[in-house]
Parts: sequence; structure tokens; C-alpha cells
Amino acid sequence: MASQIDLIKEFFKKNPNRDIKHPEVVDWVVAEWKKRTGEVFRDPDRGIRSLSQKGQLIKVAKGVYRYDPDFIVNRELEDFTPAQKTQILERDGYKCVLCGRGEKDGVELQVDHIKPKDLGGSATIENGQTLCAQHNFLKKNLKQTETGKKMFIRLYDLAKSNGDEAIQKFCSEILEVFERNNMNGHIEWKK
Ligand SMILES: [Zn+2]
Repeated sequence: MASQIDLIKEFFKKNPNRDIKHPEVVDWVVAEWKKRTGEVFRDPDRGIRSLSQKGQLIKVAKGVYRYDPDFIVNRELEDFTPAQKTQILERDGYKCVLCGRGEKDGVELQVDHIKPKDLGGSATIENGQTLCAQHNFLKKNLKQTETGKKMFIRLYDLAKSNGDEAIQKFCSEILEVFERNNMNGHIEWKK
């Protein structure tokens, strides 16, 4: 089925930004599939509907679809669809991948982007993971403290090379707090 879907995508990509009725798509993919594989394309309508449900095609009217490359890009930056969330939760057994707790343990489960959206992480099943609310919060906060630590290290290095002792002292004190709390130890600070 995957490559049949690819063939439908191929058709729409060749015909961007045009409202296309079902029969035109179906005729092309059925003939093309026959030509390429010698086999019958099963249920092309279902394939088109599935692409539309995944946000790859815009449903303009009943039986009329449009492929808009810009729309796809925007979609991929968005959150997971409800269907994707369900798939991710099912794959992870409705448990936080870090602590193994689930709703029966009284924790709220959330679906997280492993690679964050703002770093180019996309809304795909592979990039999703189930986290409890606590671990999701922790993950986001650790990211924040990482950013903070890096910024203070840069400021410290700059102050050191400028001979600005006050700023250097200020940054040292903050960075020592990071060290005392074993926070983001993987980010090295050279005094
Ligand atoms: Zn957890």
C-alpha cells in the first residue's frame, strides 16, 4: 500500500495548486500502476482520503482535492493530529517512556516531540514519545537551563577576554550554582 500512496502523491506533486476531481486522479494512478507493476491498483479512493486525513491534501469539496506545497510545509510544523497521538500512545503502551507510569497511576500522559518543533522536529510518529506531565515539564525545563548555562558561559568567556571582572564574578557565581546542583553537567564550563 505504501508505494501505491506514493504514486498518488506523485500525481498530486505533478499537479500542484489545482482542484482535481477524483476520477482524474484515479484514472491516472490505475493506468500508471498497471504500466509499472502489471498489477491492479486497489481502492485508490481510500488512498486519496487517507492522504487528505494526514493533512497532505486539501479537501476542496466532496471528491475534489488540491495539493498545495506550502500547506504541507505548514502542516508538518504543527502539532500531532489526534490520530497520530493515539498511535504514539498505543506504541508506547500508554506509559511514560521515562518512568513507566500511566493514567492508572494517576499521572497525565502527554505526547512530546523528541526533537522539538522549533529545532525542525516534525510531527511524525517516529518523532513522538509518551511522557508523563512531570517528565515533559522537566524535559522542557532542562532545555531552558541548558540554554541559560550556555549563555552564561559565553558571557563569562567574553568578560574574561575583556577583563570585565564584575561580570566575570557574576557569571562564575551563577555557573557555580549549576555545578553544585549537578545541572547540565554535559555542558562544560572552563574557568
Ligand atoms: Zn514520567
